[in-house]
Amino acid sequence: MSEVQNYHLPDLEYATDALEPVYSQEVLELHHGAHHAGYVKGANKALSDLASARLNSEYATLNQMQKDLAFNLSGHVLHSMFWQNMSPKGGGDPQGGLASAIRSGFGTIDALRQQFESAATSIQGSGWAALCFEPMRQSLIVEQIYDHQGNLGNGSIPLLVLDMWEHAYYLQYRNEKQRWVQSFWDIVDWSDVGMRLEAVRPMDLRLAA
Ligand code: MN
Repeated sequence: MSEVQNYHLPDLEYATDALEPVYSQEVLELHHGAHHAGYVKGANKALSDLASARLNSEYATLNQMQKDLAFNLSGHVLHSMFWQNMSPKGGGDPQGGLASAIRSGFGTIDALRQQFESAATSIQGSGWAALCFEPMRQSLIVEQIYDHQGNLGNGSIPLLVLDMWEHAYYLQYRNEKQRWVQSFWDIVDWSDVGMRLEAVRPMDLRLAA
């Protein structure tokens, strides 16, 4: 087995001003270069702390390490996905298999939009709205994530995520959470969301079914 690499901050696939006016260059640069980078650093630190703990058989602070790992790793996963969920060519409506799965799960695309917006704007504190594939029922659901790692069903795989931490929008949208959420639809890259769904669909946690 080759050596497992540490986590790294992924490059953005577009220029930092490419999502304007929906998402300002200033906010994007800070968000990616400072906040996301911090989670990458935190996840790598948690891994290296765990490695030292193993080496020394010293697990007195294991609880804290596990919390740090869950928080920072989840932050890294969600932000990596978030950047790819957005595109300067985004907007419009989902197509193909994704559109069908949304209709099966929610009735209509608009019903999904409404539920997702509601999940995003009603988070108490910091968190994310997420459209997820749920591999027990083989269906799409909306979940409301607290911090980066809480309140998500085990097994659920986020496909489309919206950052509702204040660092994600406050500099640009101030207290107008609803406007951030509604503007987000204009830059959502549904083709990315659709590709993610196709990639995870074979996962079936019923196993013996
Ligand atoms: Mn963030």
